Amino acid sequence: MDRRALLLGPLPAVVLAGCGTAAVANQTTNASSADGTSTDESQSSAETTTTLEELATADDQANSLDEPIAMSMTLYLVEDALDPPDSPLSSQRTPEGLSIIAEDMGEVWSQANIVFDPVTIETVQLPRDVLEAIALGLDTGPFFDQVGNTFDLPNPSALNGLYVRAAGRANGFAPSGSRVFFVIDEPSVHDERVSSHEVGHILGLHHDLEDPGTLMFSGTNGTVLSGIERTVARYTAGGVLNGAR
Ligand SMILES: [Zn+2]
Repeated sequence: MDRRALLLGPLPAVVLAGCGTAAVANQTTNASSADGTSTDESQSSAETTTTLEELATADDQANSLDEPIAMSMTLYLVEDALDPPDSPLSSQRTPEGLSIIAEDMGEVWSQANIVFDPVTIETVQLPRDVLEAIALGLDTGPFFDQVGNTFDLPNPSALNGLYVRAAGRANGFAPSGSRVFFVIDEPSVHDERVSSHEVGHILGLHHDLEDPGTLMFSGTNGTVLSGIERTVARYTAGGVLNGAR
């Protein structure tokens, strides 16, 4: 991979996209990476202040796959606060099911030597208006407005997956600039694939438009990460862990 292309490509804008220090608080952006039947995607751009020299150093570190990068991850089984668990807005998944997904995600991301550790599984009850907004069409404004106010997410981690009953037409999505992803109960592709794909977005990866076998191609069971994708993801993961985003 030509380093110049890497440095001058989309990496800086993606990696340096503004993000609050709290894991999930203070985010007001709506979903921008819907997946599934709809494939539209837009990433927010952001100012870049990091120097090329700093990026080159980070690139060297990220390119070394020998060192595992451990990221904490919490998966949330999301229920309707008003009427759990029979509400049509409550996830029908189980904590055991989420544990299996986390394990399978670990296999996918082992390609980049990114390890999900520790993994925490939580059941949370969200206000009905928040769940309805998500279920109807990817509007996560109410979610980000109310987290920390009308509800809390226990044990937020570097990565936070919310497993919801429905999310419009998408299998999953990761609101731009956040470290949160959402996955529906019955996606059209494998659970661990949706989850791993959304983590890819959080770690700075865009959709692959060429090869359905790749993790970042939308709406397939592909799981392959290219060399540059591994580098970008590791670089972004390092930034997350260092508090840079
Ligand atoms: Zn996507």
